[in-house]
Amino acid sequence: VIDIGQPEHSLVTTCAYCGVGCSFKAEMRGQELVRMVPYKDGKANHGHSCVKGRFAYGYASHKDRILNPMIRDKITDPWKEVSWEEALSFAANRLRAIQYEHGKESIGVITSSRCTNEETYLVQKLTRAVFLNNNTDTCARVCHSPTGYGLGQTFGTSAGTQDFDSVEQADVVLVIGANPTDGHPVFASRLKKRLRQGAKLIVVDPRRIDLVRTPHVSAAHHLALRPGTNVAVVTALAHVIVTEGLFDEDFIRTRCDWDEFQEYAEFVADSAHAPETVEALTGVPAAELRAAARLYARGGNGAIYYGLGVTEHSQGSTTVIGIANLAMLTGNIGRPGVGVNPLRGQNNVQGSCDMGSFPHELPGYRHVNNADVRDVFEKAWGVSISDEPGLRIPNMLDAAVEGTFRGLYCQGEDILQSDPDTKHVSAGLAAMDCVIVHDLFLNETANYAHVFLPGSTFLEKDGTFTNAERRINRVRKVMAPKNGYADWEVTQLLANAMGAGWSYTHPSQIMDEIAATTPSFANVSYRLLDEKGSVQWPCNDSTPVGSPVMHVDGFVRGKGRFIRTDYIATDEKTGPRFPLLLTTGRILSQYNVGAQTRRTENVVWHDEDVLEIHPHDAETRGVKEGDWVKLASRSGETSLKASLTDRVSPGVVYTTFHHPSTQANVITTDYSDWATNCPEYKVTAVQVSPSNGP
Ligand code: SF4
Repeated sequence: VIDIGQPEHSLVTTCAYCGVGCSFKAEMRGQELVRMVPYKDGKANHGHSCVKGRFAYGYASHKDRILNPMIRDKITDPWKEVSWEEALSFAANRLRAIQYEHGKESIGVITSSRCTNEETYLVQKLTRAVFLNNNTDTCARVCHSPTGYGLGQTFGTSAGTQDFDSVEQADVVLVIGANPTDGHPVFASRLKKRLRQGAKLIVVDPRRIDLVRTPHVSAAHHLALRPGTNVAVVTALAHVIVTEGLFDEDFIRTRCDWDEFQEYAEFVADSAHAPETVEALTGVPAAELRAAARLYARGGNGAIYYGLGVTEHSQGSTTVIGIANLAMLTGNIGRPGVGVNPLRGQNNVQGSCDMGSFPHELPGYRHVNNADVRDVFEKAWGVSISDEPGLRIPNMLDAAVEGTFRGLYCQGEDILQSDPDTKHVSAGLAAMDCVIVHDLFLNETANYAHVFLPGSTFLEKDGTFTNAERRINRVRKVMAPKNGYADWEVTQLLANAMGAGWSYTHPSQIMDEIAATTPSFANVSYRLLDEKGSVQWPCNDSTPVGSPVMHVDGFVRGKGRFIRTDYIATDEKTGPRFPLLLTTGRILSQYNVGAQTRRTENVVWHDEDVLEIHPHDAETRGVKEGDWVKLASRSGETSLKASLTDRVSPGVVYTTFHHPSTQANVITTDYSDWATNCPEYKVTAVQVSPSNGP
């Protein structure tokens, strides 16, 4: 037992790791954080937490944190510590010089899903109101951008339809391409409780995830599909529902476009989509597909939860559309216990998308070509806003290599580690005249930076995060920023160094501006959040204290829209040289590329990434448990230790990507989702062979 002494005071704030958004009491002694206690009145977590939120805050005071701004003329020069004033003036002058020489479209930003709503709003405002272009993109590009497209097209807005509490009224839970026990542990506990009470489970995943193996819970159906065949599986489920007459005609006639449904029904009813036809392609027995479809359609309240195993594919958007189709077909939308719920990875990925980080959308998912919406922001900001969608991250990098995109402000994101095709990312960064990295640590991207602006942690700022259930939670400043400024202040200083004249003195004023310009946030204020604890958007005159369930009486777009889901095989093929398929995921104790969790003083965080391989595949390659193996793809190769397990099927291998040495993105391909450019991280043809180590 470690005596940590008595705290002197505490403040309620929100975990900065995953999209569950657990509330904690940060217990302080002076300026020292002594303990994070799960907050029993937190509406997302009801007093529960996982190890990351409870214990992994040591990175905030880690010696690797950079606390002073730095600049350098060329990326081969050594860094020089300078004052904030000098760093911001250097950055502003470079950005303005680039625009003067190469045009206003030659610079842009990447926002962070780890920063607050207010900070993200300001960064996209910097782009639109100061840079005068729409070159803003977000790290959601590489995770949930297909959710934005798929749910936007079918339902009319990009958001989970339910609150987490809703799972307690589900009778059948369909989990597809998600591993909640590792990725969203507090929600997973709620889900497992419901399963132990008798709700049925369908898991669609190439790997036998923990949920399938949970004691006292037997997955009714584990559809262990071949990676890359999500669309074929989802369409086969719809085929059974339509051809066996299991659809909810009343719901469809009332709530959806009937003509579009009829076209869709004709499409899915084709025998090409029958379970028996796609069995060989997907690897899922036809009988299992049929039984799962019947259970989801007729088992009572059916709730769908999905993750990056859906989105990070060349057909990620198509699968999201297919999932929405399933919910509309069966009337499983618009009441507690049902719905379509993307499990968001990062703490504020929902919020960063809500706040207009995408290059084609202003805050509230409204297209930049909508003159009425532009008018609202033009009046609020006093500038003219471009109606041309800006560049996505991969297009920024392409344009950088071509020489037309020359300056980037990258807040809280390490694109060199987290984005696909590492060689292309580094080539794009190296070609720019001004890369500004705004982060806690000198990350890999900072190797290509000319300006480093120290970032602040969630403990050092006020603001809000929006979790995966659209819940806007308060983040409260429990200590002064060690670097001098919260991130929103740094963005304001940069904007003002470029002539903006902004004068926010507290993030609550930024939220007031969001509420005034964004109808789904119209009633949100810090006063309301302090009074209610948290609220779920939409929160406006029709729903003054928020909306736990969306699409209750009608879809945001009016009638729900069925869209056909043609399966198109990925261009990434296995063959004699690369006969196995690699897929990736996370473990509970680490977070993304590990920048925070690897800097927490506790040995349990320092586990290594390993390659899971089926014993049969290992034996035929002469690989034993714990051996080093070479993992090679058409893109590159790396070394890992092997872990022999039947959690993966023969022909499939799996690894996590938390350690830089794993270099997972050296292996992955540059294929991406057809609608959004979300990278296809989940399907890579590889070969595994014995090696002597790295
Ligand atoms: Fe934080 Fe997510 Fe764990 Fe909750 S479940 S404590 S939000 S990492």
